[in-house]
Amino acid sequence: MPPVRADQNLVKQLNCALILDQLLASSPLSRANLAEQTGLTRSTVSSLVGELIEQGLIREVGLESVGSRGRPGILLELNPYGGSIVGIEINVGYVTVILTDFTARTLWRRHVEIPETTDRAEMLALAERLIGEAIRAGAANNLRLLGIGLGVPGLVDIGQGVLRYAPNLGWRDVNFREQWGNKFGVPLYIENDGNAAALGEHYFGVAKGHHNFVFLGTGVGLAGGLMLNGEVYRGAGGYAGEVGHMIVESGGDLCNCGRRGCWETLVGPRAVIRGIVQALERGAPSRIPELVGGDTRRITMDVVVSAANQGDQLALDTLSDIALYLGAGIANLINLFNPEMIVLGGTLIAAGDYLLRPISKIIAVEALPEPTRMVALALSALGTDACVKGAVALVIDGIVREPVFC
Ligand SMILES: [Zn+2]
Repeated sequence: MPPVRADQNLVKQLNCALILDQLLASSPLSRANLAEQTGLTRSTVSSLVGELIEQGLIREVGLESVGSRGRPGILLELNPYGGSIVGIEINVGYVTVILTDFTARTLWRRHVEIPETTDRAEMLALAERLIGEAIRAGAANNLRLLGIGLGVPGLVDIGQGVLRYAPNLGWRDVNFREQWGNKFGVPLYIENDGNAAALGEHYFGVAKGHHNFVFLGTGVGLAGGLMLNGEVYRGAGGYAGEVGHMIVESGGDLCNCGRRGCWETLVGPRAVIRGIVQALERGAPSRIPELVGGDTRRITMDVVVSAANQGDQLALDTLSDIALYLGAGIANLINLFNPEMIVLGGTLIAAGDYLLRPISKIIAVEALPEPTRMVALALSALGTDACVKGAVALVIDGIVREPVFC
């Protein structure tokens, strides 16, 4: 009877997912540990573990130390040689691609910077070429490709695999699943860059073990990712978490999304650097021009931080303003979500020394005391790779939740 078989397969897949999920969260574990933690019977665990070992997704790594329980069990962990995963980030001015093993260890990496004016076709062609190189690197290591994860800066329809709108790239309706899903012959997962970075920090970074936190990362604008109750919060249509476009100054500066006064017009690097250039044009004294050889187009947040390190007043004032506006927005996020952690990523990491303490002072005043006592401010542990690592996490998460190999 086919319906019964379908149900049995589904139950088996769900049970495999439970086992893989436990091993992803904490490894190594014995079969007895897995039975305890998943609530499955020992015989079910043994039979599924056997299949997962045969599939190469988990492996035995030795004996546990003998406790009061008597006979030591064999410890299990995810098998790094289970397969390879490609993680990719397409963003304003660059494409980053990594190839990892099944435990997300990076085996191969390329980061290509391109002019911000590069058109869409050219960027997609570059991305495809880099994915091809990554896949060949995996094949050279005899690793089967399990999936491709993609992070992009905009509103993503994750069900359809379509980037609906990326204001800072100026792209609309790019159907990545249609373009790449068939081409590379493996599942393609696509996610907003901020959400992907939040996943990366959750699985591999500073927020490991935290189930309620907000990721805030700056590149050109301000990306956000909400991890609530252990899941990326996507909202009704997958478009949640666009904190950069919260209106914080009615009638403020024009944002790339076409509206005025968005949070990223006050703290996003593109807007901040534009402010610096305007101040320089008004004759503000600063050593920033000297640091970029007189070419203001070369000003980056790293340059601003270097200038601040040398005591440059314009740079110090700029960072102090960023801290002020970040602090105010973060206070609102703390009141809304009561997170355990706020993770600052992207170019904010380099500016950490100038931001963390002032932001803490601001939230102590502007957020409600109870949730403020519970929140930690932290810098991303994954740096510029938070999004690509998160893209890899999307694939692992997808396999773990719906183990197509079971
Ligand atoms: Zn906006």
